[in-house]
Amino acid sequence: MDYEDQLEKALDETPDIDGTDDRFEVPDPEVRQEGKVTVFENFQQVCDRLDRDPEHVMKHLQMEMGTSGHIDESGRARLTGSFGSDRLEEAIVTYLQGYVLCSECGLPDTRLEREQGTEILRCEACGARTSTGE
Ligand SMILES: [Zn+2]
Repeated sequence: MDYEDQLEKALDETPDIDGTDDRFEVPDPEVRQEGKVTVFENFQQVCDRLDRDPEHVMKHLQMEMGTSGHIDESGRARLTGSFGSDRLEEAIVTYLQGYVLCSECGLPDTRLEREQGTEILRCEACGARTSTGE
């Protein structure tokens, strides 16, 4: 079992805490094709919801999609190539798992910090500190 499987298993096994149905919801990506470019229309909204630096999210998207891209002046992400909203949603989910949700308690009350060159995901809910591997 590799790390990703373990992560998925851990997430699957995280019990829903009480009955408030407080599941962390991220807006579905709104995607438009513009020639050879995929425009992620509500990228800014998604980053706001994730409470993460758009440049950091963009870096992850480019890596996941294996393409290049940039954030335009209106805050939209523009990626070279043709990608459906499903594909982008997958990339957002892996971002969520890697850089937002605490691997210990599953809550999104986390911050990314840098310590001695290592990126750390610090959870404000349970105090867990995990390296993101970057
Ligand atoms: Zn936690």
